[in-house]
Amino acid sequence: MKAARIHEHGGREVLRVEEILKPDPQAGQVCIQLKASALNHLDIWVRKGIPGVPLPLIMGSDGAGVICKLGENTDKFSIGDPVIIQPLVYCGECRNCQSGNENVCDKMGIRGESTDGTNCEFIVLDEKFVEPKPENISFSEAAAFPLVGQTAYQMLINRAKIQPGENVLVWGAGSGVGHMAVQIAKIVGCNVIATAGSDEKCSFANKLGADLVVNHYNKNVIDEVKKFCGKVDVVFEHVGSATWDISMNVLNNGGRVVTCGATTGPKAAIDLRHLFFKQQTILGSTMGNADALTQVIKLIADEKLIPQVDKIFSLDDIAIGHEYLEHSEQFGKVVIDI
Ligand SMILES: [Zn+2]
Repeated sequence: MKAARIHEHGGREVLRVEEILKPDPQAGQVCIQLKASALNHLDIWVRKGIPGVPLPLIMGSDGAGVICKLGENTDKFSIGDPVIIQPLVYCGECRNCQSGNENVCDKMGIRGESTDGTNCEFIVLDEKFVEPKPENISFSEAAAFPLVGQTAYQMLINRAKIQPGENVLVWGAGSGVGHMAVQIAKIVGCNVIATAGSDEKCSFANKLGADLVVNHYNKNVIDEVKKFCGKVDVVFEHVGSATWDISMNVLNNGGRVVTCGATTGPKAAIDLRHLFFKQQTILGSTMGNADALTQVIKLIADEKLIPQVDKIFSLDDIAIGHEYLEHSEQFGKVVIDI
């Protein structure tokens, strides 16, 4: 089968589309013929090099396809069923997994980072990592949302516990997690201030339902938030060094900053006096628990949440897809057609 792998870390030239052996399902596993997978910023980090990546590695965290072969002792699916892949890897047996916190499992990983991923024609998975695909979305749309949808849901619902009527600031509404966050916060009934880096992305953020959209390159976010609502109750952070001071500046008494990433750099300072006096909370978040994916799939099946596919590349052109993502040109997701 065809797969996009890396054998070493580096630039886009290390991506190799090559023929490898097709996997065979063991007991409790199913084989999925992938129809679409998607790119995430994680792929860029993995390609450039982060600790603990096994090489060679099939890239890609998200995927959707059809069940093409069943291992023994499987009962969840039939051949031909359209399905979505859970990007989170977990043991299912430890205390954290048993209590529904699979994303803090000791053996927690992400497909395409700690184990082979979805940028390939076939993948074999334990049944627990496979969910039925809603009928109202295409395979491209089905591949576009799992990792970012699950991550945004975990951050806003399970970590920050957003409430109707709260003011929520979402940085980078054009990004994968950002476009999911705007919609999830609106579904809950929050007032959403979104930022984006171009007028075109700002108008997309408006269409997603944001109540105020600020172009963060030519407007002062602190001033715009002040005019709109004074301070915000929750900041959805994934940008890091470039935005951290503003995130803390606009945060209300009792407010929460929830962060899942640091695309502009990991170093940030906090003034502890402000933190304790204003009784604010900083929440770290990675991926989501298994239920977060189930809930996001439900919201999509109910057409409350819409995954946005920006551009589709073929598996052979995956390096061009990486380049497009690295230039942050997309609104929503970059999908790989398989
Ligand atoms: Zn576990």
